[in-house]
Amino acid sequence: MSPHQDRLGGTAVVIAVDRNYVPMMEIPRRNAIRAVVSGRAYVLDPATLVRRSEVAGSLHLVIYPSAVACTDAKLLMGRIERRVLRRDQSICQYEGCQNRATTVDHLIPLCQGGRTTWQNLVGACLRCNQLKGGRTPEQAGMRLKRVPRGPRAHLFERFERILKEASAA
Ligand SMILES: [Zn+2]
Repeated sequence: MSPHQDRLGGTAVVIAVDRNYVPMMEIPRRNAIRAVVSGRAYVLDPATLVRRSEVAGSLHLVIYPSAVACTDAKLLMGRIERRVLRRDQSICQYEGCQNRATTVDHLIPLCQGGRTTWQNLVGACLRCNQLKGGRTPEQAGMRLKRVPRGPRAHLFERFERILKEASAA
């Protein structure tokens, strides 16, 4: 094993990608190995994206050729309000406000063509939500504490980092 192979860190967890190379989830290394040994998945070389059917050396990515990742839109379906509030830890996302978020606000309002996506929804207190009304945050002169992200944003970031470090090695 070359010295840089452990540099990526987190080798106990492997990223599983679907047949389109879209990250699906992080899985324990032992599960990844089991899937490769049983032929359900292949080890993916992060530098070349070439598939291998044997487990040797570093293991960061596996590809499931029969899988298709669930879309973010699908992950948002059902109980949208609860999911967004959980992501935002039930704290109003507007700057300067410490209130509990009890509502979900469309950043770009539906009446202005805004969509129901992770990136367009934030938890907000009733007061901020009413204050903003049918305007965008810019139109209302309100700022967000942070940019709203999808539930798998960290997964995509980790995936990109693995590819980048592998191509630099
Ligand atoms: Zn508020």
